[in-house]
Order: sequence, then structure tokens, then C-alpha cells
Amino acid sequence: MSKTISIVVPCYNEEAALQHTMPQLLNILNRLSDEGKISSESFVLCVDDGSRDKTWDEICRLHDQDPRVKGITLAHNRGHQYALLAGLMEVRDRCDAAVSIDADLQDDPNAIIEMVDAFLDGKEIVYGVRASRATDTWFKRTTARAFYKFQASMGLQTVYDHADYRLMSSRALDILSQYGESNLFLRGIIPQIGLPTAIVKYDRHERVAGESKYPLKKMLAFSVDGITSFSARPMRMIFFVGLTLLLIDIIVALYVLIAYFGDTAMAGWPSIMLSVWFLGSLILMAIGIVGEYIGKIFVEVKARPRFNIKSTLW
Ligand code: UDP
Ligand code: MG
Repeated sequence: MSKTISIVVPCYNEEAALQHTMPQLLNILNRLSDEGKISSESFVLCVDDGSRDKTWDEICRLHDQDPRVKGITLAHNRGHQYALLAGLMEVRDRCDAAVSIDADLQDDPNAIIEMVDAFLDGKEIVYGVRASRATDTWFKRTTARAFYKFQASMGLQTVYDHADYRLMSSRALDILSQYGESNLFLRGIIPQIGLPTAIVKYDRHERVAGESKYPLKKMLAFSVDGITSFSARPMRMIFFVGLTLLLIDIIVALYVLIAYFGDTAMAGWPSIMLSVWFLGSLILMAIGIVGEYIGKIFVEVKARPRFNIKSTLW
């Protein structure tokens, strides 16, 4: 039996973009079902993320035109990650695989065809990865690259140049549903799922209409959120800063003692110098030790699944 595919589109104030986006997405579905690769039940789900414009009316209009367009609307604007999760959880039991894509078609929708091919070939997660960032501004390109490097150095593992354009099988979605965390950073969670994956390269275009909802400020916050949701490394670094200061302290102590015995030190200066350096490093190390415990608490409260089964022979 052919597989049912859903395309999940988070939409925040996208009334202008949807009329361009939807025909293209439906076209892709038509093409795939004409080739017999997917079932004609396949559909597109628009998730209205509490938009303030006429996005929902637009979704209703598109649904009237073609019932394969489905919609849900969130009570509040919760942000891209939550809108996406809401959509994925909504379609989880209704399809064999879900593709997530932005409403602005910056990500080339033709890559969906390759993603579906990879899925039919047995892959459970297919990442869309940008072949080039030629259409991004120099600034966006450089800051984005810097974020990836910084995140990796802070212990957050993500797929390079992959945003939230990907296909996930219903099995991968079931595992995703077990991650109950509130600080949602999907790009960090998905690689942890650990099922067979593939990568599909695509070109990034300009937005079809409307404007970006992710200015630098939001991107920065998003990046910090990603790191602090996945890694206790920044906290662990405190201990090592303390340790390094303790080592430097030895040199400082030598310098102070030489000055003291060489009679060039002012009265009171050696004792203050020694205690400031020694106590400073001790305090930092103590905070670092507390950090280790907080790091453990952080992992426990997330209550993430402790293992994901990849295959079974029974
Ligand atoms: N989006 C959303 N909720 C928000 C902000 C954005 O659902 O609060 C959606 C938006 O409609 C789009 C996707 O997330 O489909 C990506 O946003 P955008 O294209 O503005 O980001 P950029 O591509 O500029 O980083
Ligand atoms: Mg965009």
C-alpha cells in the first residue's frame, strides 16, 4: 500500500505567502501520487501560530478550494518550534511520514521529492541541508556560520546548515513525542533520535512574500536557548576557569613573595593579593562544583527518553 505523506507548514502572519506556497506544495503531492509513490490521501497541514493578520482566513479559503489543505490554529503565538511540534503531533497518527517546511518557500520544495525517495528507501529521518547560502545576505551567512561553530564548541550537536526542513517517519515522530521538554530546540533533539538518516541538498531562495520573523535578536536568543537546553558545558567551564586561576595564583604568589622579601612591597599588599587570588579561584571552583550538580538536575528534569530502540528481531 502506498504511503501517506503530510507536509506541515508553520505560519505566523503569512497571509501573503500562503497563496504562492500552497499551489506549489499541492503540485509536489500531485506529482508524487501520479508517479504512484505516495497515496492520494497525502495532505498539507498549516499551523497558524496565533497570527495577527488574516492567515487563518486564508487557510480556510485554501481548504475550501482543496480539502487536502488542513489547518490548526494555536491560541497564542508560541513561536516557530512550538507551532511545528503542534503540527507534527497532530499528523503523527494520520500519516506515514511528515515533511516540515516554512511557509515562505525559502527552502526549495522540490527537495521533498528526494526526501520521499529516501523515505521509501527505508530512511526514517531525512535532513534538508542547504547547498549554498548565495541568496542570504553576507551578514546572515556569517552570523549563521558563527552560531554553528559556537554551538558545537559548547557541546550542542546539530546537522550543519540544516534548519527545520526535514522528513520524519511516523516512528521518528513517536519517539519525538516522548521528549516532553518545554525549552524546545528541535534541531538538537532530532539527531538524538538516532534512526537511519539521509541528507538531501537544496538551494535556499528569497522569501516569496512577507518579511522574516527572525531578526538577529531572535536568532541570538534561539542559539542561546539551543545551547542551554542541551549542554551543561558552559556551567562546567566555570570549574576549569577556577582551576586555571588557581594555577596562575602560584605565579602571583611567587611574585608577591619576591616583592615581600625584597622589601619592595607596601605593608598589607601581600596579604590582600594572596587572599584575593586564592579565594577568587576557590569560589569559582566551588560554583563549578555546584554547577555539576545543577547539570545533573537539568538532565533529570528534562526526563528525556533514556534510550531509543533502533531495530528489533523477535
Ligand atoms: N513562524 C512561526 N511562528 C513565529 C515566527 C515564525 O510559526 O513566531 C514561522 C513562519 O511563518 C515561517 C517559519 O516560521 O513559516 C520561519 O520564519 P521566517 O521565514 O520568518 O524565518 P527566517 O527564514 O527569516 O529565518
Ligand atoms: Mg524564512
